[in-house]
Amino acid sequence: MLDGIAARESWVSPQAVSPEACPALVLNADFQPLSYFPLSLWHWQDALKAVFLGRVMVVSEYERIVRSPSFAMRLPSVIALKEYVEQGRWPAFTRFNLFLRDRFRCQYCGAHEDLTFDHVVPRALGGRTTWTNVTTACAPCNLRKGGRTPQAAGMFPRIKPYRPTRRELQDAGRAFPPNYLHESWRDYLYWDTELEP
Ligand SMILES: [Zn+2]
Repeated sequence: MLDGIAARESWVSPQAVSPEACPALVLNADFQPLSYFPLSLWHWQDALKAVFLGRVMVVSEYERIVRSPSFAMRLPSVIALKEYVEQGRWPAFTRFNLFLRDRFRCQYCGAHEDLTFDHVVPRALGGRTTWTNVTTACAPCNLRKGGRTPQAAGMFPRIKPYRPTRRELQDAGRAFPPNYLHESWRDYLYWDTELEP
């Protein structure tokens, strides 16, 4: 695997790459990323520290070598926790997770821009701020719906708001590949693009 990287990066000396550009992908003990979106990455110094403390195993490495007077080692590109971190079935009810559930799309018109939250049953009518009553809406749709129920406004969310499991949010996150994807990460991230022959 590393030979492939070396061939492709042969124009640039590995030592010319800044360590800052070498984050480590963090996998749980089951070799699944701790998080897909945002992708679970550690700064190289945190990754090295965890290696020295024996908390992680190195799964794959960069060509980049860091040195001190007493040692030299390649920076890890993929590490796996030795102890499985239980993440719980239900993710927290946060802005980010709500947008992620709804794939960062307005649930009324499908827009990706200018996203806000809409109480499907308005608060003034007793609607609560919960997974099952809040949906992603763009500002124009939010304004158009105003303080009305879906029936009164004739506006229904494409997907009825629901409480997602962590697994469902992970799956949603896979739809958003990171800007930077090191070759050695691909085996652990199952983006759709990878399934092409
Ligand atoms: Zn909209």
